[in-house]
Amino acid sequence: MAEAKLIDGKVFAAGLRARVGAGVAELHAVTGIKPGLATVLVGDDAASQVYVKSKGRVAAELGMASFDHRLPASTTELELLQLITRLNKDPAVHGILVQLPLPKHIVTPDILLAVDPDKDVDGFHPMNVGRLGSIASGAPLDFPVPCTPLGCSMLLADALGALSGRHAVVLGRSTLVGRPVAQLLLKADCTVTIAHSRTRDLPALCRTADILVVAIGKPAFVRGDWIKPGAAVIDVGINRISAGDSKTRLVGDVAFDEARAVAGHLTPVPGGVGPMTVACLMYNTLQEARRRAGLPFTAV
Ligand code: NAP
Repeated sequence: MAEAKLIDGKVFAAGLRARVGAGVAELHAVTGIKPGLATVLVGDDAASQVYVKSKGRVAAELGMASFDHRLPASTTELELLQLITRLNKDPAVHGILVQLPLPKHIVTPDILLAVDPDKDVDGFHPMNVGRLGSIASGAPLDFPVPCTPLGCSMLLADALGALSGRHAVVLGRSTLVGRPVAQLLLKADCTVTIAHSRTRDLPALCRTADILVVAIGKPAFVRGDWIKPGAAVIDVGINRISAGDSKTRLVGDVAFDEARAVAGHLTPVPGGVGPMTVACLMYNTLQEARRRAGLPFTAV
């Protein structure tokens, strides 16, 4: 059997960013509105600093306004809520991203609930979680959807076309990735099975999948002989492992070389799902700015 076709998330994300950039320019030309993304970082977590910096940089590259709020780790929940209230009211801000994880003394659900659902470009507000959970298969996705799951569904639709009727197994049930991915695939008329750490006989279940999305955070956990020949495999995992000589490298949750010999389509790590997250954040921010202008969501 031929090797799996690699799904190039870097190329797809670059194309999506370019289309969002064109959408930003068009919105500005027609309405004078410049989409604005506010990022909020509490504390000095090194990885979070890198993520927030890259989100602000990409927003600026696409012609958006970027508002960077960095607060000390000692910030109280009340102070953070006050900032979110200000951003909710600020007409120049169309998207609010509160970088997670927050320091332990702040109750994360309280913060996610405080963000205006129409500025919730991460799609984590309970109202947007509920909208995704109850959406009908033919209805438009005209509300913010979590970025990494949205990226997975865009890559799958691009690689496979119609997903209707396929059996999708989603390995992982987090609110960040697994559950919203499963809901998006259900909306695309897949038959969806969600698996997790208590699922029995994972290899046998995975072998029934036409589409296998893996988001568990365990390096090379899914082996080649778990994969149905020709299946599409989306590897969301990002794991840093030792590469000897005190060096490290990133690997996914799927044993890449083994999967490549069996699958029909496969995302690499890095360069698969990873680049889609920030591109989809920009997509969501553009859509919320369009909503503010009274314009409909648009597929870009
Ligand atoms: P998470 O919140 O830790 O959830 C992990 C899920 O995997 C849980 O549902 C857990 O099951 C399940 N799981 C853990 N061990 C398992 C096992 N041995 N067998 C079966 N299921 C198992 O992780 P997450 O936030 O969803 O992230 C998952 C991975 O995706 C991580 O590597 C993360 O870095 C990566 N990620 C990438 C992006 C991106 O590409 N931009 C974005 C987000 C996350 P239980 O519910 O039963 O505990």
